[in-house]
Amino acid sequence: MKKYTNPFWETKQLHELSHEEWEALCDGCGLCCLHKLQDEEIEDAPVLMTRVVCRCYDLKAGGCSDYPNRQKHVAECTALTVQRASEFDWLPQTCAYRLRYHNLPLPIWHPLLSKTRESVRAYGVHALNPVLETETIDFEDYLITN
Ligand code: SF4
Ligand code: SF4
Repeated sequence: MKKYTNPFWETKQLHELSHEEWEALCDGCGLCCLHKLQDEEIEDAPVLMTRVVCRCYDLKAGGCSDYPNRQKHVAECTALTVQRASEFDWLPQTCAYRLRYHNLPLPIWHPLLSKTRESVRAYGVHALNPVLETETIDFEDYLITN
């Protein structure tokens, strides 16, 4: 009988993952590349999502246009590291890093389970009608309200 072993994302905590395993957790949805707004004058103000996507995002290919060098292009691009895992609640609720930090299972459309990246879009896990950031764009015009 073949022995079943649970996959790494179920058996390991985030801090135990190898670099490759950490990277494999990302489903490539790109939702973390959308700009968000938060009123700094109000304590615990909600984070509002916009449809404006980072200027470094490749709308056609659907992903960062230069992921390995992303922080050279966009200094404010947040590196997702295990040391910052406790801050991951700004990430979308579908994000695998946020889910696993809270010991929640990966959704069935996650590429590690579906074995295809196509399933992410097929399940609607991507920004609808994203708009590329420009110097003059007003983020408030592109708030996601539903
Ligand atoms: S939201 Fe999470 S899973 Fe989606 S691209 Fe960003 S880091 Fe990856
Ligand atoms: S630099 Fe790349 S990874 Fe970072 S927010 Fe922009 S598009 Fe996303």
